[in-house]
Amino acid sequence: MTLDSVPKEVIFSHDMPAKALDPELRKAREAKVQIATISLCGCWGCNLSLLDTDEALVDLLDKVHITRSSFTDIKRIPGQIAVGLIEGGVANDENIETLEHFREHCDILIATGACAIWGGVPSMRNMHGLEACLREAYVDSPTRPVQSAPVVPHHPDIPKLTKKVYPVHEVVQIDYSIPGCPPDGRTMFKVIDDLLSGRGFSMPPDFNRFD
Ligand code: SF4
Repeated sequence: MTLDSVPKEVIFSHDMPAKALDPELRKAREAKVQIATISLCGCWGCNLSLLDTDEALVDLLDKVHITRSSFTDIKRIPGQIAVGLIEGGVANDENIETLEHFREHCDILIATGACAIWGGVPSMRNMHGLEACLREAYVDSPTRPVQSAPVVPHHPDIPKLTKKVYPVHEVVQIDYSIPGCPPDGRTMFKVIDDLLSGRGFSMPPDFNRFD
């Protein structure tokens, strides 16, 4: 089935909610700064780090409305928003499409974590090449059932892997980067709070530690 052949009454997840929001709730949400997060090829650790801000997150939610997040896995942003946070490297054609969509719909785009900034753990496959990795995973894998023929999964609906894993700045322009694996939740909070308050972006040295 192609998108063109989907009946008009079908509602996609990125069109949710299907019913109109309570007008008061909609007004309250629209008064806040809109932000969104998404995970490309990452482990979600960076997104979870944002939750690690504990009670500070409650304060943050007084100021921002999280329009889209990795926890709903909805990759389409309705309209234009202020800040997008990207986790993970670019490893397939769907990642590219999602990243370009975020760039188009976010005034400020922030790369969060090692995978988004320089490829991180997923980019280890660049050292061996895509074909060797697929062979190791699906053909020569010691856990492959010996009685079955090796199959590398492929289907038009499965995102096509890129030859290499790329950092996000090699695909679209990125405005800021927050280093770490994952970045400290306090750092994520501070960056967002600085931006919302119109302050300069500064990161205390003790926030950039990995021990
Ligand atoms: S930077 Fe670290 S925590 Fe963040 S997605 Fe990559 S591996 Fe996970």
